[in-house]
Amino acid sequence: MRIVEKIVYLDNAATTPVAPEVLEVVTKALSGACGNPSSHYSVGYEAKEFVDTGRAQVAKAINCQPGEIFFTGCGSEADNWAIKGTALKLAKKGKKHLITSQFEHHAVLHSMKALEREGFEVTYLPITSDGFVRPEDVEAAIRPDTALVTVMMANNEIGTIQPIKEIAAVCKKHGVWCHTDAVQAVGAIPIDVQDLGVDMLSMSGHKFNAPKGIGALYIRRGILPYNLIDGGGQEGRRRAGTENVAGIAGIGKALEMATGHLEEKMAHQRELRDYTINRILKNIPLARLNGSWENRLPGNVNISFPGLEGETILLDLDMHGICASTGSACNSDSLDPSHVLLSIGLPEEIGHGSMRFTFGPQNTMEEAEYLCQTLEEIIPRRRAMSCMWLQNENTVRDFNLKK
Ligand SMILES: *Cc1c(COP(=O)(O)O)cnc(C)c1O
Repeated sequence: MRIVEKIVYLDNAATTPVAPEVLEVVTKALSGACGNPSSHYSVGYEAKEFVDTGRAQVAKAINCQPGEIFFTGCGSEADNWAIKGTALKLAKKGKKHLITSQFEHHAVLHSMKALEREGFEVTYLPITSDGFVRPEDVEAAIRPDTALVTVMMANNEIGTIQPIKEIAAVCKKHGVWCHTDAVQAVGAIPIDVQDLGVDMLSMSGHKFNAPKGIGALYIRRGILPYNLIDGGGQEGRRRAGTENVAGIAGIGKALEMATGHLEEKMAHQRELRDYTINRILKNIPLARLNGSWENRLPGNVNISFPGLEGETILLDLDMHGICASTGSACNSDSLDPSHVLLSIGLPEEIGHGSMRFTFGPQNTMEEAEYLCQTLEEIIPRRRAMSCMWLQNENTVRDFNLKK
């Protein structure tokens, strides 16, 4: 039951609304081009035109060749392909070891678990208390039989931006393939795959105002992971299936828009983020920012409110029309605290009281103010009813990190 009419959407790390200009292109692709891009007659060519344009737009946005962009059904598929495709390919050469980090998205972690069940070995690198993977830890973990290093570009819960350029350099030095899950980063911060030096990079359209159900994997020329989807000759014979023409048109347009005004977009999101963090830390006792403020995605706020359960806050916010997330949307159906918050050493009981607010280009300062004002009202009220909070009221609260 909502007590207000308006909706304030502050969960842009979970998914984003389709931009009006993107919707226009998608609608055009869906209503006009009824042909198959592989067919040799004019309506087929028309569909192919949408696919070619989308591919060129995506390639330009991350500075690669169009032939190095392979469209997939989602970001998760791109991650699965990079990881399982590399593992299967290089196992034949006796390389059955992979390296990743403890706070990756489940698309990466569960792919690794699946490979472990098939006899592969995986190293999960630790995370520093401010939310970073260290390149020296990557280097120390590399072995002669290491096939792949995969570390995410930006974390989806705490927004910390990883030193991927340094990690890619370490990989190159040791002749190990390097993949990055850049689903949270593409369209949010500048991405140049030549400068980064990665071999593979995943993205997903619905995280930057394109529709859901379209992703892409950048694969550097010369890198050949096994195919996950065999069939027809689409995507250079490497990812079969008739193209999602409208989705491809949409992801291209959305990324062109996001990167075209990136500096402005980032400055706007940073303003909302910094205002929100400053005001919450100032006005709500014991609130704690998770992840470094430096090298953080422009739109990401992740704060723990000790003494409360995130679910309580989530429901209260929903009544006020605010959409947010407890740690990660993927944890909504699990009682375990977020693996990301545990990886930075946050004690379990504090992890449970953590909230993520993520701003998109469409959010306004009024919305940030409304969020803060609402939190300032509901947090003290809920704490006054919380045993967890009251029990500790007269004892020294030690909410320091475990590491
Ligand atoms: C959302 C997300 C994914 C999954 O993308 P889908 O397109 O939803 O499958 C993977 N990695 C990260 C970091 C994400 O934020």
